[in-house]
Amino acid sequence: MKEVKCTIIQDLLPLYVDDVVSEDTKELVEQHLQTCQACQKEYEQMTETLYVPIENKVTLFEKLNKKWNRKKMILIGGSVLMTTLLCFTVFSYVFHYQKLIPYSKDLFVIEEKEDGTLVSNYFGESHAGTYMTHPMKVEIDGETKYISLISYVETMANSPTSNFFREDKRIGPEQSTLPDSKTVDAVYYGDFDLEKVIITKEQSWKELLQEMTLIWER
Ligand SMILES: [Zn+2]
Repeated sequence: MKEVKCTIIQDLLPLYVDDVVSEDTKELVEQHLQTCQACQKEYEQMTETLYVPIENKVTLFEKLNKKWNRKKMILIGGSVLMTTLLCFTVFSYVFHYQKLIPYSKDLFVIEEKEDGTLVSNYFGESHAGTYMTHPMKVEIDGETKYISLISYVETMANSPTSNFFREDKRIGPEQSTLPDSKTVDAVYYGDFDLEKVIITKEQSWKELLQEMTLIWER
């Protein structure tokens, strides 16, 4: 049989991974994979992206984005991507109605516990919510770092509810544990819209982090 070109095999791989090819194609791809290291590597990369742990959702998204068009990607990623998209929607919604509490050294202190877990201490009076991301793998100027983004928000309107909370006196700071923070290299504070960085690519990670404040580094 005539040797099949790698480019053809690599075009077929997404379908092969999805198991939507005919038996003949399957055989063809499998035969080729046994003899070709380049395609084998490509295949392994494709399958490994489907099993990344939850905290690497963003990385998964980026990998898939490069390899397949979005329509295909949503079909493959299934629930993981739906969750991610849902998160983005929630973030956009939240920042529409709430505003960021500006950073100040006296208000926010990141503390490292003995086991490496990070805890965020908030010394302010009241706030409507805290948003924290899982560690995200980010490459800037050739350097790979795991970063977490956090923001504390208050509501735009001074509603009776927020006044009620304002009178609720707390002793000591309010503490929140950053998710999976043992692996975090740096924590940034500020507004962030991950949709712009990951999906529409309107903003690079570098640009986003320049707008945010670096508040902790391992
Ligand atoms: Zn090949």
